Amino acid sequence: MVAQNGSPLNAARNRAGILVEKLDLTPPVDVKALLFERAQVEYHDWSHQCDAVTALSLDPPRVFVRSGLPALRERFTLAHEWAHIELAWHVGSIGCQVNGVSIEEEYSIDRVTGSQEREANEFASRVLAPDRWLSQLVKGVTYFERSSMLALLDTLSKAEMSASAGLIALARHLLPGHAFFVDDVFAISQGTSWPGTPPLNDSTVEQYLRNAVSVEEFFHQGRKVLWALMIPQSVLPEFVHCVEADDRTPHKVLTACCTRIFGADLAISKALSINGVVGGVTRDLQLSWNVEAIAAVVHDRIQSRSDLREVLRDPEFAIYLHRKASAIVAKRSKS
Ligand SMILES: [Zn+2]
Repeated sequence: MVAQNGSPLNAARNRAGILVEKLDLTPPVDVKALLFERAQVEYHDWSHQCDAVTALSLDPPRVFVRSGLPALRERFTLAHEWAHIELAWHVGSIGCQVNGVSIEEEYSIDRVTGSQEREANEFASRVLAPDRWLSQLVKGVTYFERSSMLALLDTLSKAEMSASAGLIALARHLLPGHAFFVDDVFAISQGTSWPGTPPLNDSTVEQYLRNAVSVEEFFHQGRKVLWALMIPQSVLPEFVHCVEADDRTPHKVLTACCTRIFGADLAISKALSINGVVGGVTRDLQLSWNVEAIAAVVHDRIQSRSDLREVLRDPEFAIYLHRKASAIVAKRSKS
């Protein structure tokens, strides 16, 4: 019942996508009307921490919402409660607290958890900012200037989500390397290095941003946002010109790097491990990966591997990254 194709989390995402299609949802989605069609909704003042409680055993289900929530948080909460009703495996009475930090913790990266709260947040995010709407906004764009990012965020605000929830939804559709910070929470695109467990303090953010290629600051929906591009300098496009004269295969360059860093005895096995990392990264076909994106993600993954990261010190490793990423892109374009 739960999972037709995989985890409950995927089932929640799919259910949101089905409803977006069926109800032809486009931002701003009138989530209040949608919830009122499915449940008896009541607003109450209460002092405990909960934002809402949904009683699924009643027919129709009843949803109790705390009065006086900020408007955008209320919208997300209503969408979250709608999820509990639409996801058939959610049962009983569920008390929910939906704030920025919990949203961030629960769905900004693919963690191996399957809690119903996370599923409801995923669903809420995908009905308020539908995937088909976001993917159209960024279609074909591999690089944003400050002005084009500001225009994109302006459109994003039509979804009427909080700044952080909207950025988390957007980040799912951006190429690797994008990181956004809104105070102590953040949103990162897939494959971007992980800043730490939220809430983050200022010095953690500062330290993370030291590795950024560029950082822009602007106001979005009344909040200060930092937008960082985390692609390492060595894999930026300008670098390509320096290595064009070199005609070795990626494998030859990699073996040479590994021999210098790990010694001849270990070179082959280390090169194989690095190839494994590349294969693992590029099996994900959901994003339209370009050369810079593939190179940036592979760089990031190798950085996180204590058994391999030494190879990044080799001056020629960036040449390998570019060669390999270019070969993958060329192969894809043929298939
Ligand atoms: Zn909930």
